[in-house]
Amino acid sequence: MCNRYYRQYRCGHRAYAQPEYCPDATFNRASGRWTMCGNRRSTTAVADENLCSKPECYLEDLKLYGWTCCRCDETGNRMDGCLGPPGGPMSACQHWVCRGCRYTR
Ligand SMILES: [Zn+2]
Ligand SMILES: [Zn+2]
Ligand SMILES: [Zn+2]
Ligand SMILES: [Zn+2]
Repeated sequence: MCNRYYRQYRCGHRAYAQPEYCPDATFNRASGRWTMCGNRRSTTAVADENLCSKPECYLEDLKLYGWTCCRCDETGNRMDGCLGPPGGPMSACQHWVCRGCRYTR
């Protein structure tokens, strides 16, 4: 069985490692590449708490431009985690940037 590990990031994106081919994998002479057999499998060994840091990642983009927390409405967050609530103690919110959060304007 061919296997391919990937990291599942908190933003939902995945980063795939190079596949591990079993003896049933087929080699394509024309392209010079291996193709995984019918019993392929993708597994994740690690559930990653980080964001993927791809340029097209929505959550990374929110972080870059500043985000408003969907839980407590703290504005201008620039870290992974919320620094709110507004006027409250630091990090009392315990919310991490998610798809429900918005850009701060
Ligand atoms: Zn295989
Ligand atoms: Zn991402
Ligand atoms: Zn918050
Ligand atoms: Zn949120």
